[in-house]
Amino acid sequence: MSVKASPLLEVTALNVHFGGTSLIPAFAGPTLRAVNGVSLTVMPGETLGLVGESGSGKSTLGRAILRIGDLTSGEILFDGTDMARATVGDLARLRRQTAMIFQDPYGALNPRMRVGEAIAEVLRVHRKVPRDKIGARVAELLNLVGLDEGYARSRPVDLSGGQCQRVGIARALAVEPKLIVADECVAALDVSIQGQIINLLMDLRERIGMAIIFIAHDLAIVRRLCDRVAVMYLGRIVEIGPTEQVFTDPSHPYTASLLRAIPDIDPDKGLPANPLTGEPPSPLALPCGCAFHPRCPKALPQCSTGEPPSLEGVGPHRAACILPPGEITI
Ligand code: SF4
Repeated sequence: MSVKASPLLEVTALNVHFGGTSLIPAFAGPTLRAVNGVSLTVMPGETLGLVGESGSGKSTLGRAILRIGDLTSGEILFDGTDMARATVGDLARLRRQTAMIFQDPYGALNPRMRVGEAIAEVLRVHRKVPRDKIGARVAELLNLVGLDEGYARSRPVDLSGGQCQRVGIARALAVEPKLIVADECVAALDVSIQGQIINLLMDLRERIGMAIIFIAHDLAIVRRLCDRVAVMYLGRIVEIGPTEQVFTDPSHPYTASLLRAIPDIDPDKGLPANPLTGEPPSPLALPCGCAFHPRCPKALPQCSTGEPPSLEGVGPHRAACILPPGEITI
């Protein structure tokens, strides 16, 4: 009898709202609904891609999950503990078992600190190894991310963007995380360096077995790296499923539009016509009904009334659209 693994992370009805409250009603401003009722799971060792345009709530969601950003309500079960209502001890455990890799590899490091000190600091704070073993572990972590241990003496200013990002990954790995949130971690790098960092993440995932939430704009990278993908629009997940199913057979017009906009690798074919026109509405004033309706090429009159559609579908591939999957081709 096969034993089904439990999710490492189980997020239920997570909301992150900003503003909108004041003791004096006249001063209460509009509420910015950055994340709206998001539910998702991540299995141990799984890589989940989070995609969507800027302002869709991807980064806010990633930060809330790691409790380095605010949340308004909902449940975040990490390894069986609700981190939305975490005690100080629970949060300390979360910090020891999770890490974030940021977009700006230079900004994430203290410019005055040598690389070795920056990694040793994490080992010391989380008491990962005895003091006399810290130097050896720093060298091991640098080797793990493909850097010679001599880089321990370098400062961030001495490094290229790709080398800096490798140091950021070494710092993240220092806590031996069960879960990493990588927030646009290759967006600031040259294309060739992006490939190296993605290969490194794939290799580390195989060797260490950590789960990754990979937040990205670049759908081609997400397709290569991720087991499943969740598509966000204005704070909601509008489609989620196994990566190949979502890429080959999208069930939401927004996903289909994003996929249509991916440039072809054949330069003779030129850039595709982008079916996504206009900007997303402000999250301060979400439209009624399906929030995508003002931009949706398939919108029907009933799409602009009532509650937004909920995620529906067969098996693990689900989408929040009133149209059946066969009718969303754009
Ligand atoms: Fe478009 Fe309507 Fe589907 Fe929303 S519910 S994606 S507006 S067809």
